[in-house]
Amino acid sequence: MVSQTVELLKNEIPLEQESVVVAEDTVHGLVLVDIINGFCTVGAGNLAPRESNRQISGMIDESARLARLFCEKKLPVMVFLDSHHPNKPEDPYPPHCIIGSDESNLVPALRWLENEGNVTIRRKDCFDGFVGSIEEDGSNVFVDWVKKNKITTLVVIGVCTDICVLDFVCSTISAKNRGFLEPLENVVVYSRACATFDVPLEVATNIKGALAHPQEFMHHMGLYMAKERGAKIANEVLFDAAKNV
Ligand SMILES: [Zn+2]
Repeated sequence: MVSQTVELLKNEIPLEQESVVVAEDTVHGLVLVDIINGFCTVGAGNLAPRESNRQISGMIDESARLARLFCEKKLPVMVFLDSHHPNKPEDPYPPHCIIGSDESNLVPALRWLENEGNVTIRRKDCFDGFVGSIEEDGSNVFVDWVKKNKITTLVVIGVCTDICVLDFVCSTISAKNRGFLEPLENVVVYSRACATFDVPLEVATNIKGALAHPQEFMHHMGLYMAKERGAKIANEVLFDAAKNV
């Protein structure tokens, strides 16, 4: 049920969304952010949902559908997987997605991506996939991927809308604005294939140190803040102008 607070928020900062067309004459790249068991599969770990969640299951369905279309067209796809060394915690969060555990692997509906030739998989140990793509020598796997594939439009999906998706979008747009990501022109966040987690205030107040994180509210804020940086927010992605995906 959508609370009165969320209705108020959506009235105060309405979010205009648009259709985005994947045209044949430009290269669109798809970026999947952390659609992994540790964040999306019920009971899979400290940061996994405790019970099934409509926003998260809808995000997985839309992600799988879109990823399949990108793969059929052999368009470039990049997959970020949150993966932490056991001795390097990520404050303020409890241990999660330890390297080698199934928490840090793609959800079952997306596991097939590991075998696709057009897919680049990047394990990262921080929120921001752009920063997580930096190698020890200073090169950046994501920047190289954009340039090598001559990507002009990036479609970003995944979790969490207001954390790892937003951080990645902010860094990418800053880098684009500085001229580091040519020929990239557009960064699109596809809202129906994004999700975040739910910790209502009444739950957070009973857990020491926990921050309230009402799902609908934070999802909306994440999209809104991405738009503030210049991202397009899409509520549908169309292939070839005619085929609604
Ligand atoms: Zn993490």
